[in-house]
Amino acid sequence: MLYSGGRLVVKFGGTSVKDDFKEAVAFVSRLWDEKEVAVVVSAIKGVTDALLEFSSTRKGFEWIEGVHKDFAKKYGISFEVFIDPLRELKNLSREDFPSFEAYRDHILSYGEWLSGLAFTEALRREGIPVELFKPWEIIETDGNFGNAKVDMGKTSRNLKVVGEALESGKVAVVPGFIGSYCGLRTTLGREGSDYTAAVLGEGLKARAVLIMSDVDGIYTADPRWVVSARLIPFVSYEELYVASKAGMKAIHHGAIDVVRGIPIIFGRTRDWSMGTIAGYESSSLPILVHRINGEKAVITAVGVPEIPGFESENGSERGIPWARIEVPASRLGSTLNRLHLLLVSGRVNLPRTLSIVHERKEASANNI
Ligand code: ASP
Ligand code: MG
Repeated sequence: MLYSGGRLVVKFGGTSVKDDFKEAVAFVSRLWDEKEVAVVVSAIKGVTDALLEFSSTRKGFEWIEGVHKDFAKKYGISFEVFIDPLRELKNLSREDFPSFEAYRDHILSYGEWLSGLAFTEALRREGIPVELFKPWEIIETDGNFGNAKVDMGKTSRNLKVVGEALESGKVAVVPGFIGSYCGLRTTLGREGSDYTAAVLGEGLKARAVLIMSDVDGIYTADPRWVVSARLIPFVSYEELYVASKAGMKAIHHGAIDVVRGIPIIFGRTRDWSMGTIAGYESSSLPILVHRINGEKAVITAVGVPEIPGFESENGSERGIPWARIEVPASRLGSTLNRLHLLLVSGRVNLPRTLSIVHERKEASANNI
């Protein structure tokens, strides 16, 4: 390791683990050449849903096992690594837990734990010194099973051991999404690995938190629906918070309040492309976010006080205006494209340059 100072937390989402695992490992190896690196991993895409189903019906174990078998085969990891935890999972019994919620969270914890084992094994095989941490020994939470909140005070103290591993030149692997309360495993809410990454970023005083996935970054609208959607170079924490609460999937909104001044960088694992930096700066582009509620689609235009020509519900949070409309779900695509033209691509004075929306505090994207 050619240590040049600076500590990074890098999180890989479920699709990256499943489809871009080799690239993810190579990315960590490359970062580790220069920096201290803590890695947060999600469960393989689809596994958390399957575990959820398994917790209520006891069905689908073979599918989960099969996914990990295929994964091991595809990436040349020994299936041995998964055998004990899979056996443990299969033999879990509801009676051993004080509540169904505690039992369910314990079951859910296996998704990220299995990914953590795989990542650790892969790094070790690259010759990189690595330590895998049990998140239930590090991340302490409240007792709100299924959507637990992290106790930053206790967790920061526990993170000292992770910091020591980093200082000794090891990569630290911490499976995401999982915490503990009074010795019972908890989970941090769906998409909670982002939250783990933010907690690590703050607790380890990292220079940046990298959120790696299969998309380039944050767009002005979901590019799967809007062809002319633009990648946003800079987004403020406040814009990100409001957009996440309105349904944007790029990050768990709980994660944003945890990092104080640490840039969050969104990028694509494949080709290591880095797309959007979240911090105190903003490109001042509107963000169209949607959420489907049965037959209805709720579209929120973040950063926009009203939508001309539409009867919208308007509001503002954290200094960020937003305007919201509801349309039948079948009209989601056409409405999004129309709004995008109106609010983003059709705008004459589309800002191209960065605007500083907040006073720059001690950390910025430049000192990663
Ligand atoms: N595996 C969990 C989920 O699917 C957490 C995460 O991926 O962030 O919600
Ligand atoms: Mg996510």
